[in-house]
Formats: sequence, C-alpha cells, structure tokens
Amino acid sequence: MNKNEYREMWVFIEHDGKTVHPVSLELCCEIRKICDASREPLTAVIVGELPEGEKDKVRECGVDKIIHVSGTGCDTFSTDAYTGLFTELCRKYKPSAVFVGGTIFGRDFAPRFACRLPTGCTSDATQLNWNPETGDIEFVEPAVGGKMMAVITVPDMRPQVGTIRPGTFKYAPAGRRECITTEEVFDVPVEEIRTKRLDFRADEADESLNIADADVIVCVGNGMKGADRLPRYRELAELLGGKIGCTRPVFDRGLLPFKLVIGQSGAVVKPKLYIAFGVSGAVNHVTGITDSDRIVAVNKDPDAAIFRYCDYGIVGDMDEVCERMIEKLKQMKKRA
Ligand SMILES: Cc1cc2nc3c(=O)[nH]c(=O)nc-3n(C[C@H](O)[C@H](O)[C@H](O)COP(=O)(O)OP(=O)(O)OC[C@H]3O[C@@H](n4cnc5c(N)ncnc54)[C@H](O)[C@@H]3O)c2cc1C
Repeated sequence: MNKNEYREMWVFIEHDGKTVHPVSLELCCEIRKICDASREPLTAVIVGELPEGEKDKVRECGVDKIIHVSGTGCDTFSTDAYTGLFTELCRKYKPSAVFVGGTIFGRDFAPRFACRLPTGCTSDATQLNWNPETGDIEFVEPAVGGKMMAVITVPDMRPQVGTIRPGTFKYAPAGRRECITTEEVFDVPVEEIRTKRLDFRADEADESLNIADADVIVCVGNGMKGADRLPRYRELAELLGGKIGCTRPVFDRGLLPFKLVIGQSGAVVKPKLYIAFGVSGAVNHVTGITDSDRIVAVNKDPDAAIFRYCDYGIVGDMDEVCERMIEKLKQMKKRA
C-alpha cells in the first residue's frame, strides 16, 4: 500500500436530523490542529439531511470540505448501511484517517468498516498526536489497568480509523475558512440492510444521570462502605448544587448506574468543582476528570495516587469528612 495516495482527515458528523452530536464538533476542533501540522485537508462527512444552520456549526470548526451523502439507507442509522457506505466512500476518496465519535452508533459501525477495508481501528484514545517522521497518527490511551500509556498506530494500512469518546476533546472552534461541499449519492442495496427501525424511544430523561455538564460533582469511590451511605453523599451534592458520580468499582458493586461512572470507560466531566471520596486515583478514572477547575480529594491513605492530581487533599475517613462538609454547608446556608 502506498500511504502517499491517502490524503484528507475525515470526521464523521453524527446527527439526528436536527442537531449535530457535540462529539463530532469536538473532533473537528481537535483534528483541525492535526491537519494544520500534517498539511492535510479536514473533511466533515455528513450522511443524510441536516439543517444549514447545523452545517454552519461544522464549518465554524475550520473544515476545508464537506462530503454530503444522500440516498437510500442514509437518513437513519443502520449498522449495515453505514458500514457499507463508509467502506465504499473510503475506497473512493482514500482518506488518511477517519475519526468517529465513540457513541453507541460510532462504536458499532467504525470497527466494521475498518475490518472490511481492511485497516486498523483504535478505540477510546485520550490523546492524538501526529508523528511528522512516519506520517502516522499516534492514538494514546491508558492500558494495563491504567499503569501505562499505550501508543497505538496503524503503520502499514490506511485509513487510520479511531473512535473517540464524547467529552475527550474541547470544543474550541478555529473559525470558518474556505469550505467546499461535495454531493455524493449512495444507495445502499435494501437487501443488505438486515435491520428495520420499528420505533424510536429516547431514554427517559433523568437529569440526575447527565453528569457531563454538571458544575459540581461529588464522586464516590470504592472506599464507600455500602449503599446506606449514599444518601449522605447525595445530600452533599445537592447542598453544593451538583450531582453525584462514581468510579467503576462502585458500579460493579451495583451501587450506582453506569451512566454515573467517570473515566476512560465512563463519562468525561469538566466541573468547576470535583470532590473525590474514597477514590484511589487510577489513571482510568483520572482521565475523565483532568479538565475540572478544582479537584478536592478525601482519602484515608496519605499515599493514594489521587493526591497527585488534586488542588486540595484531605487525609481522613470519607464519611466523617462528608458529615463535616454537610454540617458546615448547612450552617452557611442558615446564616445567608
Ligand atoms: C480498560 C479499563 C477501563 C477502566 N475504566 C474506568 C473508568 O472509566 N472509571 C473508573 O473509575 N475506573 C475505570 N477502570 C478501573 C480502574 O482501573 C480502577 O480500578 C478504579 O478506578 C478504582 O476505583 P476506586 O479508586 O474507587 O477503588 P479502589 O482502587 O479500590 O480505591 C479505593 C480507595 O478508597 C480509599 N478508602 C478506603 N476506605 C476509605 C475511607 N473510609 N475513607 C477514605 N478513603 C478510603 C482507599 O485508600 C483507596 O485509595 C478501568 C479499568 C480498565 C482496565
């Protein structure tokens, strides 16, 4: 394979026909920087109809080109249609890399079309570098339970495919530049689509489970003794105007739902204040909190890794500290 034949970095623009998924805009912003370094065009691939105002949001992220695809099977996501579509598009246009949001849909079709091409697909990178010597993207992610950072490349094949979880990169639009739009018509053979959408029901909106945008997060770790302690941490979160989150072992113990897990396999959060109670500070967790404005850690072990990442550290029993904080906040509220 001649790698030089492959140019353009692509971002798949996920949308529901009305609005673009934030992860696609985050990716456009991050890949813009890589394209500036590698001097390759940044292309946004939009499948199906999307209002012009939403396309403008994509253009604001500094894309050089939009490929807009329409045709049978394009309007609603289906694994077969999108896998077939991206396999064909990549064969035709030969992009050097394709970045897809690590959403339920993205995680589904990206490895499939990568496999069909065939090429490599990396998931859940927390950092992307472009190596000027090899021309390869370096997908960096925690490995071996967070004890080391793995650098994964696709050295011999193109395109380099990667799925990146929402919230990993910042939405910081570089601004508009000259952007051309190419129309592509692609009819996925109906017999190749093995699924049929019968109905669509969104998750019941439970705002307490949406922690990605919370200003304050009280995170409980595996140091928590049992479910009977949870109401006190919830109360603390409420007094601070925030929400409760957790580490993965807390989910594994069945104490809180997966949507509240923060870290590499859970949510990436950016609160003004993040308080960790009984959290050890494993890289797989810390990956999800590094953009917090202020980090406070409470742990009984003075050598816990979490103290390396916090602005304020309290060595002590998490329940005692939680009670003291609740007491103090209630006093302050009474006085106010
Ligand atoms: C591929 C992969 C992905 C992963 N993704 C994630 C992820 O997204 N999110 C995540 O959280 N984890 C993730 N993990 C797991 C991660 O590696 C750690 O195992 C996990 O973060 C540890 O959680 P913890 O700190 O709550 O528990 P522990 O490591 O068990 O630490 C508990 C801490 O509580 C302290 N403690 C105990 N009792 C008290 C007390 N009474 N008062 C104060 N402190 C106390 C202890 O000193 C200890 O530091 C992932 C692992 C892998 C392999």
